[in-house]
Amino acid sequence: MPPEADMREPHAPEPWDTIRSDIRDTVMVAFCKALHGTQLSPLAVIELMAEAVGSVYREVADAHQGDRSCPCGWQPSPLADIAAMQAALAATAAPAPGIDLLRIEVQGRA
Ligand SMILES: [Zn+2]
Repeated sequence: MPPEADMREPHAPEPWDTIRSDIRDTVMVAFCKALHGTQLSPLAVIELMAEAVGSVYREVADAHQGDRSCPCGWQPSPLADIAAMQAALAATAAPAPGIDLLRIEVQGRA
């Protein structure tokens, strides 16, 4: 057992969960700001957010190629990386299994 494991609380969230939660909170704040500051529809704002994620990937991938690339050792693989990003988006955006969209009542408008 690594020494840092002894310092953790018994039910402390995993670092991955904390990072996921922090990023989601940041994205939600940006979404709400863009939605309320414009006349864009919720989907239009979400599409802009997806474009931003894609452009961040492109910039980071570019920084890992060429003569003066980042020394961390990561090798971008655009086809596989984009497939992984699409799978992550689909896995979290799709309704939970067993939910019948035709039976859901609209609760309000974003
Ligand atoms: Zn790197």
